[in-house]
Amino acid sequence: MAKNKAQPDVQIVKKGDLEIRIIRPLCISAATCVVFAPSTFDLDKGNIAIVKNGDWDRLEKIVAAAQSCPVLAIEVYENGKKLWPKS
Ligand code: SF4
Repeated sequence: MAKNKAQPDVQIVKKGDLEIRIIRPLCISAATCVVFAPSTFDLDKGNIAIVKNGDWDRLEKIVAAAQSCPVLAIEVYENGKKLWPKS
């Protein structure tokens, strides 16, 4: 399947104090992020996770979604502080 060129390899989206990064080459399309935070995450046509436009879920749900990712493809920052993954 042709690689989807519409999104960069690392999608970085900032909204207010929050920043979400998806390390897209790591994504294995497990979609648990979409289950935990459906207003924040979606899969693109290539079944790779993307951050959605519009109103996001509450922070707790976004962090839970990131924690659910089996390959640590989602990073969450608040005011520049990394909330997940813990380093
Ligand atoms: S949980 Fe992780 S691997 Fe699964 S779709 Fe989301 S970013 Fe990709």
